[in-house]
Amino acid sequence: GRLAGKTALVTGAGSGIGRAIASRFAAQGATILFTDIDGDRAAQAASAAGGHAMRLDVTDEAGWAAAAEQAEAVLGGLHILVNNAGICEPGSVEDTDLASWRKTHAINLDGVFLGCRTLLPLMTRTTERDGHGGAILNISSVSAMVAAGNFASYNSSKAAVRHLSKSVALHCARKGYAVRCNSIHPTFIDTPLIDGLGAGADHGAMIAKLARQVPMGRVGDTDDVAWAAVYLCSDEAKFVTGAELVIDGGLSAQ
Ligand code: NAD
Repeated sequence: GRLAGKTALVTGAGSGIGRAIASRFAAQGATILFTDIDGDRAAQAASAAGGHAMRLDVTDEAGWAAAAEQAEAVLGGLHILVNNAGICEPGSVEDTDLASWRKTHAINLDGVFLGCRTLLPLMTRTTERDGHGGAILNISSVSAMVAAGNFASYNSSKAAVRHLSKSVALHCARKGYAVRCNSIHPTFIDTPLIDGLGAGADHGAMIAKLARQVPMGRVGDTDDVAWAAVYLCSDEAKFVTGAELVIDGGLSAQ
C-alpha cells in the first residue's frame, strides 16, 4: 500500500469525506484512529474498514490531549493527521447569529488549530524515531477561494484554515520537521452535509441543483477527495507543503 507503515488520526471520520479518507488510508496499509464527536459512528466506521476508534470533539482541548495519548497507546505514535471535522450553517452576514458564527469557527477553525498544536510534538517524535514522513492535511473548501453571499461564517472559517495550513507548513519546514502540511478545497461532495444547505429539500433534488453550478456537471463523490488525501499524505508528495488543492470539477477555474 501507498501508506504502508504509517499511522493516522482522522477527525469527523464517522461520516462522509472523513470516513472515506480514513477507510482509503486503511486500505493503503495505514493504521488508523477513527475519531468523531459521535463515538458510535466512529466505532462503526472503524470496524467496517479495520482500525481503532475514539470519541473526539475537536473543539475540546482536553479531548485533543486524550487523543494524543490514545494515538501513542494504540498506534505507537502518529505520522498523519487529517483535520476533516466541519459543519456548514448557511446564512448571510445579516442573518448569521453570533452563536452560529462562533460554533462554526470553533469546529472548523479552532479544531484545526488545536489538532495541529496538540499533535505536532508526537508527530515530530514519531517521524524522527522511525524515519517515515509525516503529514497534516486540512479539509478546507473551495469556498476559501470563491465566496458565496449565503455562507458568511463557513467562507470565513474555511479561508482561515487555508492560510493557517500555510503557516503550519512554513513552521515545520523551517524547523526541519519531517511533517508537511497542505489543504484540500472540495466543491459540493455528496455527503449528509449537503442536506443542511437547502431548507428541507430532498437529497436527490439538492444534488441535482448543486450539480448545475459545477462545470463538469456533477457534484463530487467522497473518493474524489480521498484519493487526493492518499497522495498528499504519502511520501509521493514529499516535496509538497503549504499547497492548496482544489477538487471542484472546474468551479474555481471560471
Ligand atoms: P458530514 O456531515 O458527512 O461529516 C462530518 C462529520 O464531522 C460527522 O461525522 C460529524 O459527527 C463530525 N463532527 C461534527 N462536529 C464535530 C466536532 N465538534 N468534533 C468532531 N467531529 C465532529 O460532512 P462532510 O461533507 O463529510 O464534511 C467533512 C469536511 O469536508 C468538513 O470540514 C466540510 O466543511 C468539508 N467539505 C465538505 C463539502 C461537501 O460538499 N460535503 C465540500 C467542501 C468541504
